[in-house]
Amino acid sequence: MAKLLEGKIIAAQLKDILLKKIQASGKKLRLTSVQVGENPSADVYVKSQRKNAELLGIEFDLQQLDKFTSEPKLVEFIQGLNRDPKTNGIILQMPLPLHIDYKRISGYIAPEKDVEGVNPANMGRLVFGTGKVIPCTAAAAMELLNSTGVKLEGKEAVIVGHSEIVGKPLALMLLDKLATVSVCHIGTSKAGKLEEHVRAAEVLIVAVGKAGLIKGEWIRPGAIVIDIGINRVADKIVGDVEFDAAEQKASWITPVPGGVGPLTVVMLMRNLVDCSL
Ligand code: NDP
Repeated sequence: MAKLLEGKIIAAQLKDILLKKIQASGKKLRLTSVQVGENPSADVYVKSQRKNAELLGIEFDLQQLDKFTSEPKLVEFIQGLNRDPKTNGIILQMPLPLHIDYKRISGYIAPEKDVEGVNPANMGRLVFGTGKVIPCTAAAAMELLNSTGVKLEGKEAVIVGHSEIVGKPLALMLLDKLATVSVCHIGTSKAGKLEEHVRAAEVLIVAVGKAGLIKGEWIRPGAIVIDIGINRVADKIVGDVEFDAAEQKASWITPVPGGVGPLTVVMLMRNLVDCSL
């Protein structure tokens, strides 16, 4: 039976460390969240970001822009925040309206205020292993892996999902730890090879958003399983891995909810502190 990797325990420890750092600095930090239009799922994240920021004595400033805000106007707004000495960190809430290109816009957030690590300069630093700000969900998954104390060097690590904010940064960070990394995606599934890769994984990280995609019986005995997926199924939140069966085979596994989620927002606060102090 696997041990549980509970994000909220590590999150509480990290928050304590961050609070002490902020208090010792005597500085007043401000995190500015920019939301274009309204979206109920973004509201959930914003609420959690505000709560965590305020617990750490960080001012949380929500800037709500009209859904028709043009891309040049949004760029102008972000550049204003870049110049504002009182703003230490900037978050651009997703989803953005369809007329705004997120990849282009993220390049306008000053790298030193880019607390989500989405500016290409910060992404690029990940390749060199010198990244100061790391995309929050990927950082949370690594924090959980590190908490097991298991040495990653030489381990077969398999990541399912290759998004810019999760799968790709994780692949780079695991390479830095000298794990042997395979990254699976829709092409792997279409080729009927997902099961084969998952069965080989000593470390398995899944970030897709499809409940039950990873069958519990595929889990290699003793594997560490980090399930990042969030899916609502019949009023319950579940991950991408069949938890009950996987728990029987893994050595460590994240619950969903309660695994990666609670740590992600704390990584955002850590990035803010690392950018500002
Ligand atoms: P994306 O939609 O950006 O990426 C999903 C990835 O899964 C893509 O790389 C996609 O490949 C791949 N994929 C889709 N279908 C399959 C399949 N059948 N087999 C293998 N790979 C597949 O999502 P995110 O990375 O943003 O998020 C992934 C999940 O993690 C979601 O459930 C999200 O809610 C959750 N999440 C959780 C967070 C937390 O704090 N716990 C934070 C952020 C996300 P392709 O692009 O080639 O189609």
